[in-house]
Amino acid sequence: MSRAAVVVGLFAVGAIVLAQEKKDEPKKEPEKKEVKQYKPGDMSRPRPKVIDPGTTTPAEPPGKPPSDAVVLFDGTSLKEEWVRGGKDQEITWKVENGYAEIKGGNIQTKRKFGDSQVHIEWATPKEVKGNGQGRGNSGVYLGGFDEIQVLDSFNNDTYPDGQAAALYGRFPPLVNASRKPGEWQVYDIIAQLPKVEDGKVTRPGRITVLHNGVLVHHAVEFPGKFGEFNILLQDHGNPVQYRNIWVRKLGEYDDGTPPPEPKKK
Ligand code: MG
Repeated sequence: MSRAAVVVGLFAVGAIVLAQEKKDEPKKEPEKKEVKQYKPGDMSRPRPKVIDPGTTTPAEPPGKPPSDAVVLFDGTSLKEEWVRGGKDQEITWKVENGYAEIKGGNIQTKRKFGDSQVHIEWATPKEVKGNGQGRGNSGVYLGGFDEIQVLDSFNNDTYPDGQAAALYGRFPPLVNASRKPGEWQVYDIIAQLPKVEDGKVTRPGRITVLHNGVLVHHAVEFPGKFGEFNILLQDHGNPVQYRNIWVRKLGEYDDGTPPPEPKKK
């Protein structure tokens, strides 16, 4: 046998052995991505990626509300639209220089809202004090939805489902789009109530949140049946400031006016 024939022969044997081994290998199941469950406040949860939100909703100057918005706070007074949360007492929050600063209890709107777009601007204290949940803590509550956390989450580690823009105790924001302490930040929240037909929830309530113009929750569903909500701003003992608060009712397609009559020839 020539040397070349031996070499070819060896290759052939090798290929057969390899093919045989492949055949005997147990079939691999397609890899399933495990969805890890986390308990509320779990410090082992991954930290949302930190990003610079850019300037799609600039911190300054304050934006002007759309013409069909219900303005709940334009920087001048809380008296018309707000009451102290849960108590029939006067609001003690400080209103000056176009903002309201937390002092002495939660406040909530007199009005209730259904499906709506809610715009809220807030700033944590420029002078950084405290750590974790103790730094610039406040929060936005819309009735049956979770607290949308307000916190100084700029270089301030805490449990991810409790950082700024988290749906508290459930979901961290998709990314950490926080601005620096003292800078104005923006929440745009789209809240849809559960759809109830014949007493049954046929579509759960859901919420979408943008933090400084960046999507951080998209159509997150909420179990349960709940109706219209007051907007409540939490006093967590830190002097967080608010400004430029407005709400737009979500309309339906084709809600507008009929088209003009066709012109007669
Ligand atoms: Mg809070």
